Amino acid sequence: EGMTVAIVGQPNVGKSTLLNALAGYEAAIVSEQAGTTRDPLREHLLLDGLPLTIVDTAGLRDTEDAIEREGIRRAWQALEKAELALFLVDDREGVTDADRALLARLPAMPRLLLRNKCDLAGQAAALDSGEQGQELRLSAKAGLGLDLLVQALKAQA
Ligand code: GDP
Ligand code: MG
Repeated sequence: EGMTVAIVGQPNVGKSTLLNALAGYEAAIVSEQAGTTRDPLREHLLLDGLPLTIVDTAGLRDTEDAIEREGIRRAWQALEKAELALFLVDDREGVTDADRALLARLPAMPRLLLRNKCDLAGQAAALDSGEQGQELRLSAKAGLGLDLLVQALKAQA
């Protein structure tokens, strides 16, 4: 089943869209409504010959909604069990203070910062190095940079 990779980040940054783009089908519900994803969703994939288990998770935020909160607890649990974290941010906003606070709470593990929605930010997909180490600009929705992501995942395996 290969390496386990958890997709994490704040609500609405495109985590479920990324899972679907990698899976090649609509595994997860995508919505502009924050708090859509609740339970962690695991997909076993073979990406360019690399076997992976990818886990989509609830957006990490404070919430009064009891079910969403349970989903977020499970997201942190999934992260504990994962071997690599894909931390998504919205490329239009970049890494916010809220993102930095979350990044500081991530378990000690390999991580890759993904700047998603580069199509909306008017940026090209690219692999770069930044303040968080290796960073990748991509668009899960437009399918830009997914090949670079698979290359980066292969390098971690
Ligand atoms: P999640 O809450 O992080 O799982 O975010 P979703 O995958 O549900 O996406 C939230 C919204 O952002 C949806 O309306 C998506 O269609 C949109 N979205 C996600 N990724 C991209 C992207 O790369 N480009 C654009 N333009 N929209 C995106
Ligand atoms: Mg989601």
